[in-house]
Amino acid sequence: MAMKPLTIAGGGLAGLALGIALRRRSIPVRIMEAASFPRHRVCGEFISGIKADELIALNIDDLFEPAERHREIAWFDGARPMLRATLPEAAYGLSRHHLDGALAERFIGLGGELHTGSRFLGDASEGTVIATGRPRRASPWLGLKAHFKDLALDADLEIHLATGAYIGLTRVEDHRVNVSGLFHRSTPLKGGGHVLAGAAEDAGLQELAHRLRAARVDSASIKGVNRFHLGWQLQQDDSVRIGDAAVMIPPFTGNGMTMALQGALSAVEPLTKWSSGECSWSTTAADIRKNQRRMFTSRLRWARSLQWLLMKPMGRRFCAVAINKRWVSFETLYRRVR
Ligand SMILES: Cc1cc2nc3c(=O)[nH]c(=O)nc-3n(C[C@H](O)[C@H](O)[C@H](O)COP(=O)(O)OP(=O)(O)OC[C@H]3O[C@@H](n4cnc5c(N)ncnc54)[C@H](O)[C@@H]3O)c2cc1C
Repeated sequence: MAMKPLTIAGGGLAGLALGIALRRRSIPVRIMEAASFPRHRVCGEFISGIKADELIALNIDDLFEPAERHREIAWFDGARPMLRATLPEAAYGLSRHHLDGALAERFIGLGGELHTGSRFLGDASEGTVIATGRPRRASPWLGLKAHFKDLALDADLEIHLATGAYIGLTRVEDHRVNVSGLFHRSTPLKGGGHVLAGAAEDAGLQELAHRLRAARVDSASIKGVNRFHLGWQLQQDDSVRIGDAAVMIPPFTGNGMTMALQGALSAVEPLTKWSSGECSWSTTAADIRKNQRRMFTSRLRWARSLQWLLMKPMGRRFCAVAINKRWVSFETLYRRVR
């Protein structure tokens, strides 16, 4: 039986993972990607909460072999140690530079059509999946990331919290350390190659800024984004959206990439049915939206409340006391945001 073809707008994590899974079912897929590969992206590159069977179902489990495995985390409130914990399951540390390139290669190897340097300008009409990442919307958030060398870490993941900002540090492949942060601000940053150190300093994280200045930054990896909105994104009826184009969880959770992959996975069955003519596009779109609401609503609510607390001095103190005195376990909170 001839399967109806699909177009995916956006060849990031969500779009490529979906494209691979659909090609495995012999569905004709074309991906339009505005940029080219390999490329650096703003992302902490700490991937937590994804299950081995989800990676297997997407046919991408082997692509995670070069990843670092992370268990030990350390949180700091300014310069003060706040919390140390062991994750209940290992997280992955893998750069988007590597991962997106490997996904693109796999998609092409499975007979997918990948058009790079090709911006999708059409509507989210029947047969098109929107995976174009965060929609641009006015907001006070700024995200930054860079790779560093010669930067020793105190744990597999360090998170440094300040008022209106946080910065995470973790190892990715090739002895690199990813440093990425979220900043609530309206003024532009200065500092060229040391833009992350400058942002840390502005946020009151002087010791971290000093460590970053003493390390070697890969200037090609410095990336920044602004104008994005955390939470559910605006949805038109009948449009199929996955990844950040549908929903963005606060980055401190290290769960955004997992949600992009899980969103892709949740769309495979409904899109296969549409492609084989078993159901209409509006039913397909409604099923995918329902799947994502069921999977993501609760973790998103928890993540937004926790981020709100962590961005305030009193909130940070409360969280530290609550966990250290075992009013609530770290593992319970970890599970709530995954
Ligand atoms: C500061 C920060 C730190 C983060 N840290 C982490 C972390 O540590 N762990 C984690 O799991 N998540 C993290 N995230 C979130 C994570 O990066 C995203 O959730 C993830 O990248 C979403 O993947 P995506 O495929 O939906 O979007 P993207 O990866 O953004 O891909 C979208 C793609 O669409 C392309 N595109 C856009 N418009 C068009 C168009 N019109 N036509 C064609 N192509 C188009 C873009 O070029 C891009 O390649 C972080 C986010 C931020 C902002």
